[in-house]
Amino acid sequence: MTQELPKFTRINESFLCGNCGHTVPRAQSTCRDHCPQCLWSVHVDVNPGDRNAGCGASLRPVSYSANKKKGFMIHYECEKCGTRKVNRFLESDEFESDSMEALLKLSGVSNFSKKV
Ligand SMILES: [Zn+2]
Ligand SMILES: [Zn+2]
Repeated sequence: MTQELPKFTRINESFLCGNCGHTVPRAQSTCRDHCPQCLWSVHVDVNPGDRNAGCGASLRPVSYSANKKKGFMIHYECEKCGTRKVNRFLESDEFESDSMEALLKLSGVSNFSKKV
């Protein structure tokens, strides 16, 4: 069971993808934090939108899983500090939806161990 954290802050802005150079648009429904084309993200948040991670390295998508309520979840590992994160896959967004093709290239089985 994961409850939404009360300290959730929204900083919803467009940014340039550090992996493929795609201009990532803001999301309509949620806080966009990854590239819809290649699904890479940036390690900037501790909690979504807070920009408190102070790392700034690329978050590499390593696998995905399916969540009954939220749909597909993308699992990330930071290239620099090894932090593991999970982001929600945006199946349909008004500006730009995430690439299902890119998602399916990832391993469908999450081999992440529980949080230490
Ligand atoms: Zn990209
Ligand atoms: Zn990091």
